[in-house]
Amino acid sequence: MKGPVKDEHWIGIDLGGTWVRVAVSDKSGHFLAKTSEKVDKSSARAISDQMIRLARFLCRKHGFDPKSVKGVGIAATGPLLQEEGVLIHPTAIPFDCVPITKPISEDLDTQSCLINDAAGAALGEKMFGAAKGLDNYAYITISTGIGCGAIVNGTLLLGKDGNAHEVGHIVIDYEGRLTCGCGRRGHWEAYCSGSNIPNFIRMRLRDEPRKDVEESLLLKMAGEDPSRLRATDLFTAARKADRISAKLVEEIGVLNAIGFANVINAYDPSLITVGGTVTLKNRAMILNPIRKHVKDYALNRIPKITITLLGDDVGLYGAIAAALTYIPQC
Ligand SMILES: [Zn+2]
Repeated sequence: MKGPVKDEHWIGIDLGGTWVRVAVSDKSGHFLAKTSEKVDKSSARAISDQMIRLARFLCRKHGFDPKSVKGVGIAATGPLLQEEGVLIHPTAIPFDCVPITKPISEDLDTQSCLINDAAGAALGEKMFGAAKGLDNYAYITISTGIGCGAIVNGTLLLGKDGNAHEVGHIVIDYEGRLTCGCGRRGHWEAYCSGSNIPNFIRMRLRDEPRKDVEESLLLKMAGEDPSRLRATDLFTAARKADRISAKLVEEIGVLNAIGFANVINAYDPSLITVGGTVTLKNRAMILNPIRKHVKDYALNRIPKITITLLGDDVGLYGAIAAALTYIPQC
């Protein structure tokens, strides 16, 4: 990677449901500094105030004037109104409307732009990662929620409000047995995202023989209390060959394969990269069942499916890529 371009700084902000990450970068995607904190959810305005404070902290710590910042890109958990620069009824943040770009632009006296985090990640992967040179590509994140960004014929798809392909909310279970964080039933995210896998486990354990459940390592890891189950317990127990856990990991893989098949059928990508905490912590257990089952549901030719090269920083690269793409540079 090239060295920093002198005196030209860009700020990227990745706002998730739990963490906010901030990086200062040059225009080649070389990070000069980065930091993160848990999202301050004390008020809607506190979120942009926290971003401003972290951005100013990085500028001060590395000895440059915030006025040298060319622009700020914010890749955020959705849904959002992209043109207005606000989050609107975000599923992971408990406010109806969260202003982002206006307070940041006013305080830092620079331009800023907002993009859905998965759409931003797709842009970041194309500019800095595995999708360089590809015209048809998708990024899928399996994390607290599930999201997707798609580039089709070289164009990043955004939609009227910037919420194109909210694939976490496609219906994969028409019986709607589980309720999603958005309030609707049967959505992919309600079964397979980090925050909802425990609901899926509890629902499925009710169907298994009581004796098998009571003897499972999975239940022991939750202190014999299903209400305390975490997604990470399932993957840990499966890694230790717990029979029920391995079975449920495979079932989650089938549901993920249905979601991936929908993306393949809709966008016909030549590559899908996958990120998000659930994926990055359980790479083989997430990817292998998808690769095995996706052909059962996809009509289109199956693309290469691989882990993102940008790791945990994919959201930050996406925010920088959005700033470089949407903010005029002169
Ligand atoms: Zn939903």
